[in-house]
Amino acid sequence: MRVTDVPGVPEWLPEHLADEGIQELYPPQAEAVERGVAEGESLVASVPTASGKTLVAELAMLSAVASGGKALYIVPLRALAGEKAREFEQFEQYGVSVGVSTGNYESDGDWLGSRDVIVATSEKVDSLLRNGAQWVDDLACVVSDEVHLVDDSHRGPTLEVTLGKLRQRVADLQVVALSATVGNADELADWLDAELVDSSWRPIDLRTGVHYGQALHLDDGTQRELPVGGHDTQSAAIVDDTLDDGGSTLVFVNSRRNAEAEAARLADVTRQHLDAEEREALDGLAADIREVSDTETSDDLADAVERGAAYHHAGLAREHRELVEEAFRDRLVKAIAATPTLAAGVNTPARRVVVRDWRRYDGDAGGMKPLDVLEVHQMFGRAGRPGLDPYGEAVLLADTHDELEELFDRYVYAEPEAVRSKLAAEPALRTHVLATVATGFATTRTGLLDFLDETLYATQTDDPQRLETVTDDVLAYLARNDFLERDGDQLSATRSGHLVSQLYVDPMSAAEIIHGLEVGPSVESASDGDGDDSETSFRTASELAADDDGDDDPDPTPFGLYHLVSRTPDMYELYLRSGDREEYAELAYEREAELLGRAPSEYEDARWEDWLSALKTAKLLEDWASELDEERIAERYGVGPGDIRGKVETAEWLLNAAERLAAELDLGCAPAVRRARKRVEYGVREELLDLAGVREVGRKRARRLYNAGIESRADLREADKSVVLAALRGRRKTAETVLENAGHENPSMEGVDADADTDADPN
Ligand code: ADP
Repeated sequence: MRVTDVPGVPEWLPEHLADEGIQELYPPQAEAVERGVAEGESLVASVPTASGKTLVAELAMLSAVASGGKALYIVPLRALAGEKAREFEQFEQYGVSVGVSTGNYESDGDWLGSRDVIVATSEKVDSLLRNGAQWVDDLACVVSDEVHLVDDSHRGPTLEVTLGKLRQRVADLQVVALSATVGNADELADWLDAELVDSSWRPIDLRTGVHYGQALHLDDGTQRELPVGGHDTQSAAIVDDTLDDGGSTLVFVNSRRNAEAEAARLADVTRQHLDAEEREALDGLAADIREVSDTETSDDLADAVERGAAYHHAGLAREHRELVEEAFRDRLVKAIAATPTLAAGVNTPARRVVVRDWRRYDGDAGGMKPLDVLEVHQMFGRAGRPGLDPYGEAVLLADTHDELEELFDRYVYAEPEAVRSKLAAEPALRTHVLATVATGFATTRTGLLDFLDETLYATQTDDPQRLETVTDDVLAYLARNDFLERDGDQLSATRSGHLVSQLYVDPMSAAEIIHGLEVGPSVESASDGDGDDSETSFRTASELAADDDGDDDPDPTPFGLYHLVSRTPDMYELYLRSGDREEYAELAYEREAELLGRAPSEYEDARWEDWLSALKTAKLLEDWASELDEERIAERYGVGPGDIRGKVETAEWLLNAAERLAAELDLGCAPAVRRARKRVEYGVREELLDLAGVREVGRKRARRLYNAGIESRADLREADKSVVLAALRGRRKTAETVLENAGHENPSMEGVDADADTDADPN
């Protein structure tokens, strides 16, 4: 089918696509059009990676916009939101406006409402719904990218419930769900009342197989010589062989550490294939990478990049990831060692894909677990660049002949698993039941069960009773913690329940926070021994007001607050490494007076372990808020700069929730919580809060200004410009911007010389 034959799309589209080199639709795209995707029909498209799902989504969204509606594109990862929005911005020249919703969970609703196409994560959409976004009513089309992730126990339920709410709210909403090839695409289509395109077509041939001994064994039964030869590892030999042919390789491994080590090894191979021009370009790229942050990760990555290889994992800063991805697409970086996050979405095709590790450590299972077929096939799908490579090749690695056979059975010949809903679990339902009631999607228990009956879970389960039982447990929990009130069949959210729903925190996090703030420091840490109050409950505001003995209670310390939010289920804690247990147990006793809520005893194993992990996380946050260098923090806790930022952002968000809850419940400590939050936000000690609040100042500059005697925003406005300039290391442009942001009357630095005496601090 030619693009000119697609009904319903705006008239400028065929020409635009032709300019992009797209004239003929790929077969699965043509099938989607035949099933009405450009005319408002809902559709599930289950097709392999890189076979043009995005265009299917665009046909649906653009025809929806052409007929006056809005379109929403739901992405699974925040990192993908920006990438997708940039892709859709190509349509802005035709008057289609695009908005991407990132940033914090409560903001930016109105601005989004003015856009035609909106890109957001499912969590963001959920949050917008909870906060009453009105533009949702104008939606004509919603696209759910990587919908097979409803199977993910952490994030799947949110996607499932969000799609349910959107469909309930907007009659006749077109839902286009894009999925990797899965075992039960028909069930997904049933759930969404959608047409189905289930295809294994790929734009470029993919050969899959296993490397064993001296050869690649491929799925068509052929073998190709590929001796390990002088190389240390199979993957090094494969990278070398691919480069002989001018191709690039993507190697998937199971941990960050392995990715880093593998990249260093592969760099020894890629290094030998670089010409002078490439070496120069790579030197430039390495310098850019070192600019991003002053850490060991930055250095290691730059070292590998100089030699033509790189690693890619979630511990990298976003800027690092983008630089690496772009250089790989430009064929400058010849090999990437990546953790599986790269397989999920980001567009980085390679001639060859090597799945080096097919087992991964799984905390829930307490050991190594084989990857899902679905995941391995998605990694495979990254092989082969249409128009560039004659074909793609994707292989696993075997050590023994038995393993060779096992891998063929397990992955090469195997069909992907069926997608199963993970909704009927308490943590998922706790948050979604509260939100469903708080936002009025259900006002009775019956209504709630009816709503849940429309979920994928309900269409899949053969035990309908289970959902009802878990729902009742959750309702009881929410009522016990004063988030919900029940009156017969009627359900309503309390004020704090509404707030918790809007703040987008897990009700259990909110209960933990409220309890900690109410009880205060846990000086009397001995367990009360009854062992069954592991679930926190708290007093209502009025009870509290009644026994409030004035303002004598000391404010919680930042460290106490960091620990409190770190032990909620919304914070991804740091693991304890060997030796950490003793170190943090000691810290727990040392700083006991600051920790909020009831401390577990050492004999409550799981809780004690959790308490210590949270303590480690809290210590990281305290180090950050005490102006410790990023590099030192990364080293001390064995994390990357991306992790530090992740922890800081989560803490900021949870402390914001804590502040709001403290204010709502009149707990009196809201200002202290706010100060602790600001310190994490800026990464500074108390005395720099005012200065660091000036845009473009940041933690390092604030400290230099402070050391030069400029202690506040007001000082900055009055300061001698030469002192400011010296403190900012003679950077005129920066100094002007900073003065302007501080509200200086005349920020110009013309004719000002840096006062050499004041720049005492060489850092
Ligand atoms: P998916 O989302 O299925 O992984 P993409 O939508 O990213 O795949 O498409 C992969 C590549 O194929 C993109 O570069 C896209 O421009 C190109 N493409 C899509 N449809 C066509 C087509 N009909 N003809 C030629 N190229 C296409």
